[in-house]
Amino acid sequence: MVNLVIFGTVALDSLETPFGKANSVLGGSASYASIAASFFTKPGIVSIIGKDFPKEHIDFFNKKGIDTSGIIVGEKTFRWQGYYEYDMNEAKTIKTELNSLESYKVKVPESYKNAKYLFLGNMDPGLQLEVINQIKKPDFVIMDTMNFWIQQKKEQLLKTIKKADILVFNDGEARQLFNTPNLVKAANEALKLVSKAVIIKKGEHGALLFCDKKHFSAPSYPMESLKDPTGCGDSFGGALAGYLAKTKDLSEKNIRKAVIYGSVVASFNAEDFSIGRLKQITNKDLEKRYNEFKAIREF
Ligand code: AMP
Repeated sequence: MVNLVIFGTVALDSLETPFGKANSVLGGSASYASIAASFFTKPGIVSIIGKDFPKEHIDFFNKKGIDTSGIIVGEKTFRWQGYYEYDMNEAKTIKTELNSLESYKVKVPESYKNAKYLFLGNMDPGLQLEVINQIKKPDFVIMDTMNFWIQQKKEQLLKTIKKADILVFNDGEARQLFNTPNLVKAANEALKLVSKAVIIKKGEHGALLFCDKKHFSAPSYPMESLKDPTGCGDSFGGALAGYLAKTKDLSEKNIRKAVIYGSVVASFNAEDFSIGRLKQITNKDLEKRYNEFKAIREF
């Protein structure tokens, strides 16, 4: 049974970083998030692809135990084209082709409707809200967003955030959404909208958690082989949601652990293009790096 529903894009990405290029590779917020979550629980994706989407990727999702019955097939897959300069914290978008997303009518399969956990990856906030409305009684909703949707649909986005328990976004997006350079102020504004917690991802500099009037700062991992940060935000969110769905514990202490698991999976993700590294790692690798994270924090 699907325990965690993951909504977002399943995409074909073309990108360039200072360390190489990739053309039409698997990407999308739901792809990264579901693969990251699959280390902890059984996710099911809700999304749309096109007839041009390679079947091998669907086979891979299924091999990871990810339910794909919520992925419908439209005309053409969502495509994102971008590049990174030496500051790998910021993706520069060259082109976003919404394609089949433009006329997408969200349909959550019956078999997902009793899921208790929901992760809303980057996607049109109007569609994110439709997914929330179609799940019967989720115990918690975690959502992510990004600059594209803040620019295009800010009012709708603020309405959708009000339905979430945990909001995850990055530092630039937090500043942009709440019109302030101060991350603590932005987090406090966001806390007025959600019921539980706000997490601000700071790329290679770690992440901040604001929850129950407490503040936790997760360290960054000293990465030697950084190739492509695409999907780090989504794999952070997916692993965080997967860990919380597995442990069913929304205490502040457990959310701290989830933030570290999110950071662990995101750090692996950046070691290769697309899902190259996530394909290779095992839960044993995650545990090893989780313990390294603990050691980094000790003083
Ligand atoms: P991130 O985790 O923020 O690096 O997200 C990277 C992924 O987001 C890429 O694989 C893209 O396919 C996907 N993406 C890019 N633009 C959008 C968008 N506007 N909405 C949803 N997903 C997007």
